[in-house]
Amino acid sequence: MDLNLDGKVALVIASSKGLGKAVARQLSLEGCNVMLSSRDAEQLEAARLELSKEASGRIECCPCDITCADDIDTLIAKTRELFGTIDILVNNAGGPPGGGFDQHNDDNWQLAFELNLLSYVRLIRAALPDLKTNAGSIVNITSSSIKQPIPNLVLSNVYRMGLLGLGKSLAEELAPFNVRINTIAPGRIATDRTAYLDQLKADKLGITREEIEETSRRNIPLGRYGAPEEFAKVVAFIVSDASSYVTGSSLMVDGGMVKAY
Ligand code: NAP
Repeated sequence: MDLNLDGKVALVIASSKGLGKAVARQLSLEGCNVMLSSRDAEQLEAARLELSKEASGRIECCPCDITCADDIDTLIAKTRELFGTIDILVNNAGGPPGGGFDQHNDDNWQLAFELNLLSYVRLIRAALPDLKTNAGSIVNITSSSIKQPIPNLVLSNVYRMGLLGLGKSLAEELAPFNVRINTIAPGRIATDRTAYLDQLKADKLGITREEIEETSRRNIPLGRYGAPEEFAKVVAFIVSDASSYVTGSSLMVDGGMVKAY
């Protein structure tokens, strides 16, 4: 099946490592020209150089803190300047701090709102003129918490649900322009973020991270954490013409972990 991604311009947010980087790599292997972005300029340039070695398309990068509106405007302007347009927007972010309700003050709630919800809104708004012209595609990366709350991660549980509502609302509003928007929810994909959360849990329970991982694996029907590449291939399919009749949907990539319908 040809994904028909050759020559498309993809803006992938929070892509210096983890899921975002894996998605950027997969899209570039499929022939997309890719704009990478995250805060740490050095790490970002290292990712650009690494991915450029095997990419079919061109890869550029632009540092951006997505909690800052001006940074987002600069990123969009830079993408247009270097690539001319935007066909694909992959929204992603760093994870919010872990912890339960009594561990978060207003500052934490505000930061997580700006990082994990408002940034997606701002990025979509800024990229929309190009996406409408190009019948483009948006993917919002969220979390399994859109189906089932994750213990000790209340900030994710709350704000990811907002993204689900955003995706459903925009699917309707953007369909007349043939712009598709879908939500993708990772379960436990092996990245630094999963290691951080497992360590947090281990510290809380006074056991090792390996013991936490073993318990997690037992709760995943496929019996293992996912690889970032496995996640990225699903995103590549969803943003491509191969899924041209899919919009407003949410898709779990979790090895069967979440039992909810
Ligand atoms: P990760 O390995 O920690 O990578 C996070 C990326 O986000 C990095 O490139 C980081 O670069 C960037 N970033 C963080 N804060 C940013 C900001 N303010 N502005 C711009 N970029 C920023 O995390 P991941 O595992 O890939 O997860 C990505 C997202 O999926 C997170 O929201 C996470 O909570 C969610 N998720 C992941 C899983 C999983 O299984 N991995 C499961 C559920 C949900 P800089 O620090 O340099 O900015």
